[in-house]
Amino acid sequence: MPGGWTGTSATDRKETLPPDWARRRSACIDRAGGRCERIVHPPKGGRFRCPRPATDADHRGDRLDDDDLEALCSRHHGQKTSRQGQVAKAAKKQAARRDRGADGPHRS
Ligand SMILES: [Zn+2]
Repeated sequence: MPGGWTGTSATDRKETLPPDWARRRSACIDRAGGRCERIVHPPKGGRFRCPRPATDADHRGDRLDDDDLEALCSRHHGQKTSRQGQVAKAAKKQAARRDRGADGPHRS
């Protein structure tokens, strides 16, 4: 089926960033010690913090006026940005599912 995402481009997103974004971004990267804050979950189990240097910061959520920033390496930031539009719809579903999952008791 053709069609799909024709939504907001990266350029559009930049225009909605706050005027002091550069300062916020560098503060976030400083706070993270210059390292990507993304937690990686390898398929074989466990988890660790991404060892790559942070080159950018992004909001953990979708609110651009939020101060809750996450320092990201170029790879993770690129993944997030390119997937943002495509997963926007799925994210809502996922959030609903996650809420139910967190609260849902195991019934047998
Ligand atoms: Zn990373």
